[in-house]
Amino acid sequence: MKLIFLGPPGAGKGTQAEKICKEYKIVQLSTGDILRANRKHGTELGQKAQKYMDAGELVPDQVIIDMIKEELKKPDVAHGYILDGFPRTVPQAEALSALLENMEQKLDAVLVLEVPEEDLVKRLTARRTCRTCGKSYNLIYNPPKQEGICDLDSGELYQRDDDKEEPIRNRLKVYENQTKPLIEFYSARKLTVSIHGTGKIKEIHEKIELHLDKFK
Ligand SMILES: [Zn+2]
Repeated sequence: MKLIFLGPPGAGKGTQAEKICKEYKIVQLSTGDILRANRKHGTELGQKAQKYMDAGELVPDQVIIDMIKEELKKPDVAHGYILDGFPRTVPQAEALSALLENMEQKLDAVLVLEVPEEDLVKRLTARRTCRTCGKSYNLIYNPPKQEGICDLDSGELYQRDDDKEEPIRNRLKVYENQTKPLIEFYSARKLTVSIHGTGKIKEIHEKIELHLDKFK
């Protein structure tokens, strides 16, 4: 099973991806992790990426594509994968299509997790962070035992500037602008599957299963 998973920040994509991987015995390929691993192990591609990063530039798409290519050759992805964090743009999606075609692989589906903006804002602005140890809490899903105080070290909990409403709305706007053309790209190829991401984690997972069971 070969999937791409798209969803705005705060939609619960990570949690759902983890459940899907476990159930269908596929691996999550996060481009952030792949990039880090390549740099850490000093691979040729990792060194290439490092040069761009040292110069304060973005790592070019082709370098990331080449890293993904190496990943896809590994035996542990034989059952399939979920790509996470890539593609983010239409040119990246085109490059990925070319790569998969070249490897005689085909995507099964592009899952799109949809959650109304107001819900996302509510969830994301509920994050609080400990000033002492940096542990984060969510007032809705994972509140501290005592209001405003860290469970671990009694440190003061505060709201980081990033977690305030305006930056959150900006992030969601950026996501929407960036992702819309991508969704159109994959819709035109009849690959998108929309999942409503509101409700309980288990219910959302069951909705995803309904779509994925046919690719088993
Ligand atoms: Zn703490």
